[in-house]
Amino acid sequence: MTQHNIVDLVVIGGGTTGLFATYYATMRGMSVKLIESQPQLGGKVMQFFPEKRIYDVGGYPEITGEELVEQMTKQAERHQPEIRLNQWVENIYKVDDSYFELVTASGEKHYAKTILLATGNGTFYGKEPDGWKERVRNKEIAKFTIMNAEQYVNKRVIISSDMKTGVEWGLFLENKAKEVIMVNPDRRFNYTNKADIEKIENSSADIYYQAKIGDLQVKDGQLSSVTLELPEGKKLNIEADELLMYHGVELKATPFNQWGVELQKGRILVEGDMATNIPGVFAAGDIVSYDGKTGLIASGYSEAITAVNKAHKWIDPKAVEQQYSTVIYR
Ligand SMILES: Cc1cc2nc3c(=O)[nH]c(=O)nc-3n(C[C@H](O)[C@H](O)[C@H](O)COP(=O)(O)OP(=O)(O)OC[C@H]3O[C@@H](n4cnc5c(N)ncnc54)[C@H](O)[C@@H]3O)c2cc1C
Repeated sequence: MTQHNIVDLVVIGGGTTGLFATYYATMRGMSVKLIESQPQLGGKVMQFFPEKRIYDVGGYPEITGEELVEQMTKQAERHQPEIRLNQWVENIYKVDDSYFELVTASGEKHYAKTILLATGNGTFYGKEPDGWKERVRNKEIAKFTIMNAEQYVNKRVIISSDMKTGVEWGLFLENKAKEVIMVNPDRRFNYTNKADIEKIENSSADIYYQAKIGDLQVKDGQLSSVTLELPEGKKLNIEADELLMYHGVELKATPFNQWGVELQKGRILVEGDMATNIPGVFAAGDIVSYDGKTGLIASGYSEAITAVNKAHKWIDPKAVEQQYSTVIYR
């Protein structure tokens, strides 16, 4: 007899699709483990637009990305699933016809009867500006997304960026922060519309073009000032509380080929049952493709429901196809 703790379902990916799948599967009485590689839940929503308003999720006339993820996390945690952060799933193996072994980059092993791939295309990491590591010792101080907007209120915020996202952060924080200082290594903001550039240039934010952060000064683990390297070899030291950085992102792709999961044009081609080519492994959200697929938060919910119901049936062929929450929580 095996001693492994085998859950009914491991959900790989804690974006909006994985979070909803986790709730839905536990609502149906399945034991679930959610594994996410980032230190936070929320996937693309938290990484790319936590501060932006979303208008096309049912039930919320408008909601910020961060608020949506907060609500979804609360919902996902309702039936106490196990949620593991900072765990990159490196490999999945079929042990026998009844369960899988999943191995993470840190060497941890997890066991599941079925798997749901809610991975998007992988995970994104913020890029550092050129020469960052050589110049700056305390690089962990920099944040690569603007989540927890409240932490910037009345703070002196440095934004290092030559791109649209940096400008958007500057405009968003201008009225909240005590000071916004934009540090742009280029002569201009790239990929940014003219209206936003005019807005930031006419705002209270200070903008240093052709400037880069030469060093950071940190006291008790908290940023206290930055040294800017300006044109003609000049240096300027300015007080600062927070450092945000946007110089693009890089994708770490989920290793589907290694797992034996078939892709077509970078996506998992599914039919109505959300099944992959590996029996017992299902997929939902941004990673799947089918005729009429939309890359939206709401479509991930519906796909997650189907995938979970099919996984449930995979484990127990007598299970009913679907259940109403109004009936379950009577
Ligand atoms: C700029 C932008 C604006 C958008 N605006 C809207 C909008 O207004 N309305 C809307 O409905 N949609 C919008 N979308 C689309 C929406 O963000 C996506 O459809 C949705 O976030 C997809 O969720 P997901 O959970 O399927 O994937 P993701 O959010 O990509 O989540 C996948 C998760 O899996 C994790 N992961 C991947 N591989 C592994 C692994 N091997 N091990 C562990 N974890 C792993 C990743 O770290 C990630 O957290 C927008 C997208 C972008 C980029």
